Amino acid sequence: LVARMRPFGTTIFAEMSALAVRTGAVNLGQGFPDTDGPPEMLAAAAEALRGGHNQYPPGPGIPALRAAVAAHQRRFHDLAYDPDGEIVITAGATEAVAASILALCEPGDEVICFEPYYDSYAASIALAGAVRRPVTLRPAANGRYAFDPAALRAAFGPRTRLVLLNSPHNPTGKVFTPAELALVAELCQEFDAYAVTDEVYEHLVFTDAASPHVPLASLPGMRERTLRISSAGKTFSCTGWKVGWASGPSTLVSAVLRVKQFLTFVNAAPLQPAVAVALALPDDYYTGFRDGLQQRRDQLVGGLTDAGFDVLAPEGTYFVTADITALGGRDGVEFCRALPERCGVVAVPTQVFYDDVDAGRRLVRFTFCKRPEVLTEAVSRLRALT
Ligand code: PMP
Ligand code: GLN
Repeated sequence: LVARMRPFGTTIFAEMSALAVRTGAVNLGQGFPDTDGPPEMLAAAAEALRGGHNQYPPGPGIPALRAAVAAHQRRFHDLAYDPDGEIVITAGATEAVAASILALCEPGDEVICFEPYYDSYAASIALAGAVRRPVTLRPAANGRYAFDPAALRAAFGPRTRLVLLNSPHNPTGKVFTPAELALVAELCQEFDAYAVTDEVYEHLVFTDAASPHVPLASLPGMRERTLRISSAGKTFSCTGWKVGWASGPSTLVSAVLRVKQFLTFVNAAPLQPAVAVALALPDDYYTGFRDGLQQRRDQLVGGLTDAGFDVLAPEGTYFVTADITALGGRDGVEFCRALPERCGVVAVPTQVFYDDVDAGRRLVRFTFCKRPEVLTEAVSRLRALT
């Protein structure tokens, strides 16, 4: 194995899901729903499979899906992208992030990201031979995560190539505020850096969030320097489909496509028309989905609090993080490895998503994208901890 990949072992998600299977624990680790997405979408996929949509689709994705991605961004964010040239379909957001970094970064270029960061970011940056410059998010007095603006400014420099911004943010559930986004935008322009935004949780911002989801690309001066990424997995409860996309100015999208064609060439022919159907669902699908998840967030936040955790209530995403100190926990990795034995629940230590391990040492992440009865069972097991 090449040196640049040696620091990367098995992903924490695979490790923890395997642990759940082995121990029969309730798996609140890896973020995947335990119910299927919209029936219209599933029917369209079945029809496409039976209808002969089983050969290589066009490289940038089928026209119907690119058109649906464009219409969706116009509908929800008033962002206009040309389906022919400004949108590329990818194998999930994961491939879009990897291809964006590989397309834009020379070896030694620096990529700024907020830690804790989604685990594929560090590996994609390493594959490109680039260098990550993390800016740390820490629990603030208001129970939300924040970063020090001076630390963000200090992370920028002559080698900064791009900022990789995930909002709504996994694992913290943070939704970056307009003021925070404005600072990111200002610095990108001052240092002539690109932005790559991972917005896979764009529809999962709860009604009590401090601000709605604002795409960085919608800020003045940002559209021309931003690759905006999202995917179907979270919004339509189909994480196993791996249909994602990147939108941006044609110069950036064609760079991504150049890389993508040699990573996967094309992907998921019969799933693409189905995701196009899903994207066109009426607004009440999206709000209903969000409301359902918000109820389950409240259920899990309440349950974890009762079980003795110090909970950091999320504004969005599938996840809630909690500090384990009050339960006598000192190290999240040890805590999560022992948790199935102790009480039959699996969680993910967020420490593995930090370079500054101490900043996340006592934080663990639980997902609430599960049926209410599963959450009830998990909470009753977790109460045994005290
Ligand atoms: N980015 C973030 C922040 C995620 O949480 C995930 C997991 N859904 C992904 C990217 C990967 O998305 P996909 O499955 O579409 O590749
Ligand atoms: N995005 C999901 C999570 O954070 C799943 C990630 C994965 O399995 N690679 O749990």
